[in-house]
Amino acid sequence: MRRKTAPKPSRGCAELDAASELDPAPITAAGCQECLELGVDTWTNLRLCVACGHVGCCDSSQYRHATGHYESSQHPVMRSFEPGETWRWCFVHNRIG
Ligand SMILES: [Zn+2]
Ligand SMILES: [Zn+2]
Ligand SMILES: [Zn+2]
Repeated sequence: MRRKTAPKPSRGCAELDAASELDPAPITAAGCQECLELGVDTWTNLRLCVACGHVGCCDSSQYRHATGHYESSQHPVMRSFEPGETWRWCFVHNRIG
């Protein structure tokens, strides 16, 4: 078997593979976009959509806007927006990459 020329081994998740090179600037660096619009700041942790730069709150937060963004936009991959965290999450496969 020949090896493919891709530098990274396949992880079985096309979304995470495709997102590995995406690193958009956050639209609302101050916090969750929808929470800011609601005038609340009750989020627990923040997530950044790597497709468009949307910032949303995690599933431990009151409103779960990161998941809401996925459901409305179908953007499949987000990454942690917390300092020092670089993991990414595929909503399609519910896995970290
Ligand atoms: Zn996936
Ligand atoms: Zn929110
Ligand atoms: Zn998005």
